[in-house]
Amino acid sequence: MRQKIVAANWKMNTHYMSGIKLLSEIVPMIGDEVTADVKVIIAPPFIHLYSASQLMNGNRKVFLGAQNCFYEEKGPYTGEISAAMLASVGVKYVIVGHSERRKFFNEDDAIISKKILQVLEHNMQGIYCCGETLEQREARKHKEIVAKQIETALFGLSKERVQKIIIAYEPVWAIGTGVNATPEQAQEMHAYIRSLIEKKFGENISKEISIIYGGSVTPNNAKSLFSCPDVDGGLVGGASLIARDFVSIVKAAG
Ligand code: PEP
Repeated sequence: MRQKIVAANWKMNTHYMSGIKLLSEIVPMIGDEVTADVKVIIAPPFIHLYSASQLMNGNRKVFLGAQNCFYEEKGPYTGEISAAMLASVGVKYVIVGHSERRKFFNEDDAIISKKILQVLEHNMQGIYCCGETLEQREARKHKEIVAKQIETALFGLSKERVQKIIIAYEPVWAIGTGVNATPEQAQEMHAYIRSLIEKKFGENISKEISIIYGGSVTPNNAKSLFSCPDVDGGLVGGASLIARDFVSIVKAAG
């Protein structure tokens, strides 16, 4: 059975105290209310990481994620954060290739694949985001675009290393818009991504790799999306900032 995963991406939201408060609400609720085997990852802003790792220390359901890292090991890169730094405060997962990073920071698949290597080098797991824009979908190029993203970022990895990747299919037109992909659209793309992984890495790995969906997931649509056979959970932005909503979404994956 593939691991079900629900990951929270807080993006650039919360301040120190409000973030810790939110975390202190979410973590016990998951412990008390989520009985199914769903792995929960929370990726808060960097300022929370150290305190969050102490708060989650030893938790068997909730794990710490980061939203980004740089692709160099260390050195004169003002304002950046290295994979080694993240690992040193207990981060276990790093989101790489988010469409907001691609859009606002000009990250391309070459940069993203270097970041993935850094994450893996430091024994963390990558949450690799891919997905097409609305224009690309309307031009019926969505599969082609996603295939290229998957190939460039992941096909250079060894079989051993690709198993440390969680793939997040996040159609750009669905992120933060309130317009989620339909379950049919999500299932179609997830099955396609799994077929690409199968062709390159074999059936066993394709069956085991978790492919999660992101883009306007809410407590209302989570169940129908997560019930699709190839959708193994979700990456949640806006709704992860409200403890009760996020916990409902986690429950929908169980
Ligand atoms: C995201 O940022 O990865 C995301 C899916 O955001 P939202 O849930 O707000 O669409």
